[in-house]
Amino acid sequence: MFDNKEKTEIAALGEFGLISHLTKNFKLLDHTSVKGIGDDAAVMDFAGKKTLISTDLLLEGVHFDLAYVPLKHLGFKAVQVNLSDIYAMNGTTSQITFSIGISSKFPLEAVEELYQGVMLACQQYKVDLVGGDTSASKQGLVISVTSIGYADEADVVYRNTAGEGDLICVSGDLGGAYVGLQLLEREKQVYLSNPNIQPDLEGKDYIVERQLKPEARGDIIDILKELKIKPTSMIDVSDGLASEILHICTQSNKGCSLYEEKIPIDPMTYETAREFGLDPTVCALSGGEDYELLFTIKQDDYEKIRYNADISIIGHITEASAGCNLVSKSGNVHELKAQGWNAFMK
Ligand code: ADP
Ligand code: MG
Repeated sequence: MFDNKEKTEIAALGEFGLISHLTKNFKLLDHTSVKGIGDDAAVMDFAGKKTLISTDLLLEGVHFDLAYVPLKHLGFKAVQVNLSDIYAMNGTTSQITFSIGISSKFPLEAVEELYQGVMLACQQYKVDLVGGDTSASKQGLVISVTSIGYADEADVVYRNTAGEGDLICVSGDLGGAYVGLQLLEREKQVYLSNPNIQPDLEGKDYIVERQLKPEARGDIIDILKELKIKPTSMIDVSDGLASEILHICTQSNKGCSLYEEKIPIDPMTYETAREFGLDPTVCALSGGEDYELLFTIKQDDYEKIRYNADISIIGHITEASAGCNLVSKSGNVHELKAQGWNAFMK
């Protein structure tokens, strides 16, 4: 990957040299950050608010493939995937820690690229990098991100509080990240069989970006605040719509009806899924990695949300005994099953 570029051995810097090299351009900007990198622990002050924390572990070969994921995109995605969990609690994101295990074969330039993506995410989402850990790895690249955020106690939204009759809403569109992944996997195979063939991703920017550079929906949290809507439950779509709505229903002890025709699917996702012989609805239900927000609202809030182009109402919550169902375009009722993308089944 880095053959035509200059390479600097990490060993030449040493661990502390590497840490200060990577982090020297990160400035603390959030008012809740008291002390960042450089002491034994970071210090934050949330002035009476509830603290939200979420962590992800990402392993090369399990969660990402460096054959087609540029390191800058990986750094960006690793951060935003984790911030998405704070938004899913209706929280404000404020800090991250970013930890890496790197092979000694990895040149400094590669780690710099990774951190360029981290910085981009910090700037875009206005969060401070306040720490991390650095180690050598003998098993490929390891990344762990922790996000920290806050919310007023009354604003925190859980998964287990959906009520019967509530409307089920989702932001953006679904299935694109999964179809984008199919495209990247196909081009990787073509490349492996003949490295002279350049990847053909022409005209597929949107779904490739959905896979490589998804955007956590902090903007939706702001919109809901402006509209004075507090969702009755919320989760982010990391494993696919089916799996996520089942989490909400199971934890809330409720059922649901989802309407296939209401599920937002971008035309490019739809067409490309078809090219691969995939059912676009199945891609939305089971694909995952879209990082949209799935939430329920009270029926009274319907008027506030109905004309918002970025939020689709896709069904409603029912009593538990009705089960969790998908009503197909032809009117047939199917029981929803979680077939979310599962790293352990690959
Ligand atoms: P310790 O020995 O206490 O673990 P380190 O020497 O690992 O401390 O880290 C020194 C400082 O640099 C700490 O503030 C730590 O949070 C930060 N840090 C270490 N590695 C990273 C990294 N990969 N990215 C960002 N900050 C880091
Ligand atoms: Mg350390």
